[in-house]
Amino acid sequence: MDGDGDIEYSRYTLDELRQAEASINSVQYPKNYANLTTEMEARLAEQARVVAEQKAKRAANPLEISGKTAEFVISEYELTLGRAKVVSVIAVLLWLPNLLDRFVDFERHLGLDSTVRLWLSALGVAIYGLFGWLYWNCPNCGKFPGGGWRRSDCRSCGVSLRATVE
Ligand SMILES: [Zn+2]
Repeated sequence: MDGDGDIEYSRYTLDELRQAEASINSVQYPKNYANLTTEMEARLAEQARVVAEQKAKRAANPLEISGKTAEFVISEYELTLGRAKVVSVIAVLLWLPNLLDRFVDFERHLGLDSTVRLWLSALGVAIYGLFGWLYWNCPNCGKFPGGGWRRSDCRSCGVSLRATVE
């Protein structure tokens, strides 16, 4: 059995330190206990420092993390916006019979009764929502970049989404 203060806690992994802390008798081995807690605090501080450093790096240059080029992100986002516009137009068209209900007799001209008109509107909302949920992503981080057609950067990772900021 080691004497008090003989244990080299610097060789322990963090998990082993945690196990040691759970089982140590701090009255019988006060020096070991002090060494153990000092070592743990140092490890946790180091861990927090590394996490903070990574976070700062990501904030400074999100592209560095994903490995994608700025040109790729901008052209992909342009494609996404293009698709979003097509989907919006389809959604609006599906909504029109319901919106213009008061002015046009859709039932007589196109055979669209009120139930069909409601279903078309619901389909428009569903298509728009599904697209937004599945495909309206930032090409860099994959998260929703925030709404709006003129957005210049991703609200999640901060990457530039447009070549020229107006
Ligand atoms: Zn992003």
